[in-house]
Amino acid sequence: MREIILIKNGEIALKGQNRATFEDMLIRNIRRRLKPLGEVGIRKAQSTIYIEPKGQMDLDEAVERLQKVFGIAMLERAAVVEEKDMGSIKAAAEEYLREVLGPARTFKVEAKRADKDFPLKSPEISREMGGFLLSKFQPLRVDVHAPEVTVTVEIRDFGAYIHAKRIPGAGGMPAGSSGRGLLLLSGGIDSPVAGYMLAKRGVGIHAIHFAAPPYTSERARDKVVELAAKVAEYAGPVSMCVVQFTKIQEEIRDKCPEEFFTLIMRRFMMRIACRVARHNHCDALITGESVGQVASQTMMALQCTDAVCDLPVFRPVIGMDKSEIIELARKIDTFETSILPYEDCCTVFTPRHPKTRPHLDQVEAAEGKLDVQGLIDEVMEEGLEFFKVAAEE
Ligand code: ATP
Ligand code: MG
Repeated sequence: MREIILIKNGEIALKGQNRATFEDMLIRNIRRRLKPLGEVGIRKAQSTIYIEPKGQMDLDEAVERLQKVFGIAMLERAAVVEEKDMGSIKAAAEEYLREVLGPARTFKVEAKRADKDFPLKSPEISREMGGFLLSKFQPLRVDVHAPEVTVTVEIRDFGAYIHAKRIPGAGGMPAGSSGRGLLLLSGGIDSPVAGYMLAKRGVGIHAIHFAAPPYTSERARDKVVELAAKVAEYAGPVSMCVVQFTKIQEEIRDKCPEEFFTLIMRRFMMRIACRVARHNHCDALITGESVGQVASQTMMALQCTDAVCDLPVFRPVIGMDKSEIIELARKIDTFETSILPYEDCCTVFTPRHPKTRPHLDQVEAAEGKLDVQGLIDEVMEEGLEFFKVAAEE
């Protein structure tokens, strides 16, 4: 039986005048994710988007991919019946719905008649189909208020659709519909989750990674690229920037008091990230920080890092426990990659006793011997590498 996929968008429906723009973005994202599986025709009608494979297509795989596309609240697979008479439609329903109705206890039928020439009206279609399915699937009962299964029959100009298998979508807003943000992506557990969370709100993701070779290895860098590819399954292609951070870290080690190493390093990361963000039209930074997780993430430490930023810093996991972050990391399949044991530049020169209640004037004084602007200019001129990371096909 020929099948198609129906898509219900969520919050887009509330967008009033801009709705068409959001829908077009969603459709572009859908096309991009399905392209490796084959050609599809896409139509929209009212609040539904219809996806019709043009040739053979693995629909299980298509659904799995679409479940990662933000802006989709719910998906349904539907059977297409080309002969538009009740006999054919009923026969197709019996076969197509066996798997769903067999184990169900209650159901109802909803009919939509777009083709006004069809001889039965919507309530008549519902009644006739309901009676037929009752006779075929026992001991099924009708429950119009809270049915386990809602069977929908849509009579369209060119045929009928039958569907009853609701599949949850990823929710959120279409990737790219809320502008761009720059994600500070380490190899850890938290930052990929932070990127996923903002991508869900429609923020296009650029990523910046600070590498400190030879203290950090090529493998550590590959791991970050792999994480970016996982985020890209949801966010769309990620523009990546890798920063040569070694010299700055060595300068900090040589010229600053040890208890401030991590904090000063983080301030450099934020300064460079703000500059890269502005050059690439990103309107915010995104980090995976969570209050109190480590010394550089106490509220006072965050004040000291924010003090050097001239863009908003979004920290979507700020109030989450590690266990909650891990749960999300497992869901988006970044966890196993994140826990691979490669070094991060943050762990290269860690102070034995970092200050947990740093004051801004102390940190500024601790930076006193560094040529902050000179070091940053140097990195901006010759320490950046840009490339694009797409989801694995
Ligand atoms: P994580 O490594 O999540 O993803 P963490 O608990 O290890 O988090 P830190 O190492 O203190 O935390 O870093 C806090 C945040 O700073 C990270 O979530 C990330 O956004 C950013 N960050 C840390 N190291 C780097 C790096 N090498 N490159 C880019 N961003 C980094
Ligand atoms: Mg980390």
